[in-house]
Amino acid sequence: MELPANEEQDVLYWGGGHPPGIYTVKTGYAFLMNNFLQQDVFSDTNFFRILWKLNIPPKWSLFLWKLVMNGLVVKSNLVKRGIDIDVYCDSCGMAEEDQQHLFRMCSFGRYAWANCSLNISSEIDESTPFGHWIQNYILLFHSEDGKRSERVGTFIGVLWSILLTRNGRIFSNQGGCLTDLFRNYNTAMQQLSVWQRVGEGVGVNGKVSADSGAPPSFERVNIGCKREDINHPTNARLEVTIMADGSWLKRNRMAGTGWAYSEDQISYMEGGGTYGKAHSSLHAEVMACVAALKWAEVKGY
Ligand SMILES: [Zn+2]
Repeated sequence: MELPANEEQDVLYWGGGHPPGIYTVKTGYAFLMNNFLQQDVFSDTNFFRILWKLNIPPKWSLFLWKLVMNGLVVKSNLVKRGIDIDVYCDSCGMAEEDQQHLFRMCSFGRYAWANCSLNISSEIDESTPFGHWIQNYILLFHSEDGKRSERVGTFIGVLWSILLTRNGRIFSNQGGCLTDLFRNYNTAMQQLSVWQRVGEGVGVNGKVSADSGAPPSFERVNIGCKREDINHPTNARLEVTIMADGSWLKRNRMAGTGWAYSEDQISYMEGGGTYGKAHSSLHAEVMACVAALKWAEVKGY
């Protein structure tokens, strides 16, 4: 231990405060709270371990991570970075737009939570930091429903649609009204459903359900009629059925497309075909559909 050069009296020094060295109840409380939050590290670790394994699109995982880390570009965070903007919420104008307000406390956000299937009163327990609030719900749903929890999907879908509605209001001159919220929510849940189905292999090459009667990668698209099954004809008034298919050679990226059509659902006649370059087999399939639709339009179907 180094000895002081001059003879001095020892003094009490408090290292957790500002100005340095002086103890106050406030800084003591902050010190204790900090210790308390550090004890919560296990919970955080647990959450992040689960986060990356959730059955949701990667962009949703990243979104959730940003929310928990308070890293979203909301107005209060922009002001903290020195950007001179009006920090008030564009929806209600009653408070600063930080994550807690935008997603929980704003009347718009509260409405979204109260009217989703989860029926959450987001304004209760305002003292809970936003990041913890999110973690609590995700951990709860995950522990009760497992990793395929529908409630986790709904929860993130509401968060996502609140953000999209707010972005539309600010950047795209949209009204940011409840209609926009519901539209964004429905789109988000549809995208989630498609993503999860692809993850399960439904509709992907070789895993089309065995009873569909269609070969792998052959998709039936029906336009203008709700029910139609070639094996179980209905009395729907179908004018024409077109079957289109594409093929693709990875080596030289050449693609070929062709389609056939039927006016009586029994006999099929040659429709047409094209060829060209494609980036993938899926691209070739889409080319076939587009070419067939263009052909149908010219034919007047
Ligand atoms: Zn607001």
